[in-house]
Amino acid sequence: MSEKTKYLLDESQMPKSWYNIQADLPKQLPAVLHPGTMEPISPQDLEPLFPMDLIMQEVSLEREIEIPQPVQDIYKLWRPAPLFRAHRLEKALGTPAKIFYKYEGVSPAGSHKPNTAIPQAFYNAQAGVKRITTETGAGQWGTSISFAGNLFGLEVLVFQVRVSYDQKPYRKAVMETYGARCVASPSQETQYGREVLSKRPDHPGSLGIAISEAVELAAQRDDTKYALGSVLNHVLLHQTVTGLEAIEQLHMADVEPDVVVGCTGGGSNFGGIAFPFIGQGLRGGKMPRIVAVEPAACPSLTRGKYAYDFGDTAHMTPLTKMHTLGSNFTPPGFHAGGLRYHGMAPLVSHVKELDLIEAIAYTQVECFAAGVLFARAEGIVPAPEANHAVKGAIEEALRCKREGKSEVILFNLCGHGHFDMASYQKYFAGELTNESYDENELAMALSGLPSVPGEFS
Ligand SMILES: *Cc1c(COP(=O)(O)O)cnc(C)c1O
Repeated sequence: MSEKTKYLLDESQMPKSWYNIQADLPKQLPAVLHPGTMEPISPQDLEPLFPMDLIMQEVSLEREIEIPQPVQDIYKLWRPAPLFRAHRLEKALGTPAKIFYKYEGVSPAGSHKPNTAIPQAFYNAQAGVKRITTETGAGQWGTSISFAGNLFGLEVLVFQVRVSYDQKPYRKAVMETYGARCVASPSQETQYGREVLSKRPDHPGSLGIAISEAVELAAQRDDTKYALGSVLNHVLLHQTVTGLEAIEQLHMADVEPDVVVGCTGGGSNFGGIAFPFIGQGLRGGKMPRIVAVEPAACPSLTRGKYAYDFGDTAHMTPLTKMHTLGSNFTPPGFHAGGLRYHGMAPLVSHVKELDLIEAIAYTQVECFAAGVLFARAEGIVPAPEANHAVKGAIEEALRCKREGKSEVILFNLCGHGHFDMASYQKYFAGELTNESYDENELAMALSGLPSVPGEFS
């Protein structure tokens, strides 16, 4: 057994294909429904929003989908990403468990999101698209698609949720550095934004509203398409480079994981690390326990309903079956901005229903405590979102200590927290509280779920 700290792959060992879990699922995903007719949609129905290559990836049942050479070339700016053995964290916890983490904070944007931003920009540019509209919450996705769009000569317009636009001015500056335009949402640039503002001029915005604005503009113009940083099947597909690399790296360490942990907002970094391992299990290999960690203040997997719902607030998007808190649910303003979405990726929801994964929710204060413990042991300051994965891994390591087991734990350290130090400042000042959602609001949002013919709630 090697006791190395860092497991690095050569560029030549970078995956040449993404892994599509849809090829191995024992049961196919439920159909996607048209928002007007509630009937299953065809790939053509999605064409106003996405280039056909991405739509075909959305519905593909092929196990391996080749990563285009230009995408591989750009991935090489930071990939393969390192895998670390957390020796010092193990020691600090006094656990016999072996903890490994895949570090995605080495990308130019500081998170896993460029893994999908690059191919999305590539396929759009190839299809002759000139402009991409998108939304961003905390700003990581906006940053990533701005970076990627610029590399492929695309104009990028980002609707950033008003609260984070005001709280995180540096994110906007990074987007502008990459050549994108960033406006606060709700905005005056769309009909839906104007409608929201006319009712409430100081509206703090939400991801659901920002998505509606971006979709509205994309649907209106032939040269403009929409890009989403999480939730969709093709996004999770692109993120599997992380899990595929981790498989090779754990192989170098001569181990297989007993537990794989990831944080879940829309589900993309989690799917990226977990799906290649689930696939190995489904094809007869070892099936690790897979743990999704979500914020207690926005608990779609543990408290949401598995039902058809819209992806946005204005109900312009198709309906997908997913764990949802209701498209009108507004989560409280906790600090892991990337985890504040009402729904969960249909693929993650589906594997949860198939009992292939577990889910657990933690509050933000305990997650920051875990992140600080991790930073002091390993040196990297995690993003507030990533703190949820750190917390999940630490809890597994402490269980191993109680049970005297030396299990192998792998988690995805999906980003660093250098743009989020204000939230750490609050934590150290004792000002961070455990935001909780309003049970009545959740009940209301869930009772407002769309009724779909043939579905029983
Ligand atoms: C966006 C983001 C998330 C949440 O999105 P997922 O699709 O669930 O991965 C988590 N962590 C970081 C660092 C992010 O930027």
